[in-house]
Amino acid sequence: MMNSTISKEINALVLKSVPYKESSLLLTVLTKESGKQNVLCRGVKRCKKEKLFAEKFAYSKMRLYVGRGIPVVDDAELTEPFYALRQDIEKLSLAEYFCEVVLCIPFGSGDDKILSLLLNSFWLLCGSEVSPLVVKTAFELKFAQHEGFAPMDFDCSCGKPAEKWSFSRGFLCDDCAKGDGVYVSQAIINAVRHILSYDGRRAYSFEMNEEALSYLSKITEKYLQYHLDTKFDTLEYYKKFMEADFG
Ligand SMILES: [Zn+2]
Repeated sequence: MMNSTISKEINALVLKSVPYKESSLLLTVLTKESGKQNVLCRGVKRCKKEKLFAEKFAYSKMRLYVGRGIPVVDDAELTEPFYALRQDIEKLSLAEYFCEVVLCIPFGSGDDKILSLLLNSFWLLCGSEVSPLVVKTAFELKFAQHEGFAPMDFDCSCGKPAEKWSFSRGFLCDDCAKGDGVYVSQAIINAVRHILSYDGRRAYSFEMNEEALSYLSKITEKYLQYHLDTKFDTLEYYKKFMEADFG
């Protein structure tokens, strides 16, 4: 029989890595080329050191054998391991949360915008110039935008300035909201508008006082849960840790 295997190259970020059979790993990766997909990494126990690309958060160029089953990683070149994420529990738990959110998208879906969002968020978490809470808030809103459920208008549809944010109806004045939504200040609406108006790292460059940012961050995480109709264990872990540490 003819060998029907073909070779394919992908740029992939590992969202999830689980043991598979004797000595393999099943990786769920987000790729530039084909969105979210599974790949198999064989012979991991034999040479663990050479398989750093198979660790969670690692971003690599992988060459795959694509046959009938799950594509198999033939060779990989580590582009960025994002080691710094593992040196700080707050950053680590946020990175875990971002991965869990991105895992919600269906296989084959997710374009390079979602990948860029994840890469930018990881880069900024690794650095120190942007606070982790800003990264979290911007990530949640940009993810909502890329998936098509972010607010598009920042005034109420009646023309009056918005005072409330309804997860199902968007920004509204108090009269039109009729008891729906949470109260938001103009500073919060401006921050949301900024995040949604810019791509790349500029989306994360907004100024807010700590109290308002913390309030906005609580809203954006609930907004994501509402639209994705799911709860994230990693987010609960992050919140528990933050309460224990600073509460
Ligand atoms: Zn109105």
